[in-house]
Amino acid sequence: MAGVLVFAEIKDGKLRKASREMLSIGRKLAQASGGELAAFASDRGAAAEAGKYGAKRIYVAAIGPYATEMYAAAMQDAIAKAQPSIVLFGGTSNGRDLAPRVAAKLNAGVASDCDRLEWAGGKLRARRPVYSGKAFATVEVTSIPALATARPNAFPPEESGGGAAEVVEIAAPQISPKGRLVETNVPESGEMSIAEADIIVSGGRGLKEAANFSLIRDLAHALGGAVGASRATVDAGWIDHQHQVGQTGRVVSPNLYIAAGISGAIQHLAGMTSSKHIVAINKDPEAPIFRVADFGVVGDLFQIVPALTEEVKKAKAH
Ligand SMILES: Cc1cc2nc3c(=O)[nH]c(=O)nc-3n(C[C@H](O)[C@H](O)[C@H](O)COP(=O)(O)OP(=O)(O)OC[C@H]3O[C@@H](n4cnc5c(N)ncnc54)[C@H](O)[C@@H]3O)c2cc1C
Repeated sequence: MAGVLVFAEIKDGKLRKASREMLSIGRKLAQASGGELAAFASDRGAAAEAGKYGAKRIYVAAIGPYATEMYAAAMQDAIAKAQPSIVLFGGTSNGRDLAPRVAAKLNAGVASDCDRLEWAGGKLRARRPVYSGKAFATVEVTSIPALATARPNAFPPEESGGGAAEVVEIAAPQISPKGRLVETNVPESGEMSIAEADIIVSGGRGLKEAANFSLIRDLAHALGGAVGASRATVDAGWIDHQHQVGQTGRVVSPNLYIAAGISGAIQHLAGMTSSKHIVAINKDPEAPIFRVADFGVVGDLFQIVPALTEEVKKAKAH
């Protein structure tokens, strides 16, 4: 067994950013382990793009939209054919759902939410945040294959310039799933998802009321970013749960995270401390958010946020 197999997800006809990230780190791990990079997808349309990121082969099962049991069975088949040492899943809802199920089927180990991956001494070594991001644990997955899911934005996507991956069709699993996808409800807001955004502007209870989220949206849109939120605002019904950052929301790692009117409770920090640059705006100089911020602005968000939005718009106009 050698090489790496990546679960490749497609959205709007293109590989999701999380999958491009996994192919990029997968290519390096494949080189280190002396094997090839391969991918698994449910649509052969992914072959050209997967090839650009270094996949030599793509196992394709035409099994439609994501459904846990079908995908777990098809993935198991792909693993049996590809015989990889490592199997990687992006930190998406589907990736995090699928990885432990495939691991259980194979009686293999899985390291979740990793932000570093390396091949060392014939084993997959992974670094993952623990205790709500207060510490890191380095773990070694001793099974072959070793499975891992990754933290979004932890591994930069890098093309390798390769040609289209060779398509290997695999038959749809002959199973009777206990569950089936009935419908998919996409939020109508059309807002960018925080899951893979490069820039996130988040609002907290300091906004005082739902209508004031418009200040956060204006800044996020001016920067070309997504809107995040603390749980206090979600619980208050000011904004939908899909925007919640933190332990019971999404874990995000954008290049820029702006927190306005958010105190920085440990459960919020658990979802955003791996952001590359953190800016906090809070009127309380003792707010815990300042302990993790690279840039802190002590002041009234109702003055600072609109002023910042204007400056961003001016800068972008030039
Ligand atoms: C099991 C569990 C899971 C949880 N999961 C999450 C989670 O996933 N995500 C999450 O966010 N929380 C989570 N929480 C809740 C968390 O403990 C906090 O209650 C929550 O994060 C607080 O939200 P906040 O910072 O918006 O509100 P607050 O803590 O009330 O902070 C508001 C901040 O706004 C500032 N402020 C007020 N007015 C202004 C102004 N005009 N200008 C500037 N600043 C101003 C204040 O100084 C204050 O720091 C969880 C809690 C539990 C128990």
